[in-house]
This record gives sequence, structure tokens and C-alpha cells, in this order.
Amino acid sequence: MKCLVQGCPGEMEARRIIHTFVRGGKPIVVQDLPALVCPICGYTVLDLQVLDSLFLFDPETAEPVGQAPVFRLSLTPVT
Ligand SMILES: [Zn+2]
Repeated sequence: MKCLVQGCPGEMEARRIIHTFVRGGKPIVVQDLPALVCPICGYTVLDLQVLDSLFLFDPETAEPVGQAPVFRLSLTPVT
């Protein structure tokens, strides 16, 4: 499948990605998520079925498979 980004000649590749989102103010990390990724521009597409599972996923009741350190960089905002 060709990349959906206009002007990008990339061909989407099936990969396993790490997806991060925030639930209840806390960062949640999901690894090994199947996705299509453009190797040129990095555009990522998740399957509808994967999106559904993510939507239904409840980090409060699921058993974590690992821990990830959380950092904050001290950066001055670009004005
Ligand atoms: Zn692309």
C-alpha cells in the first residue's frame, strides 16, 4: 500500500510499534502494536480493529508486561 501523504513516494510497511497515550493524566505505553508505517515520512496507520482494541483497553484492569521510565526535558518554549 502506498503512503497516504501527498507527494510521499513511500510504500507502507507492516511493523510493530510502540504507542503512547494519556489516560487519566498518566502516560500509558502499549508495545508490539501492529501498524503500517511509511519508512520515508513516518506516517503511521492503525487498523480499525487495532483502534477498537485500543479504545476498549483499560489500563486499570490490565496486567502490565513492563515498566517504562517517564522523563521531562527542561526546554524553553520556542517563541
Ligand atoms: Zn510517507
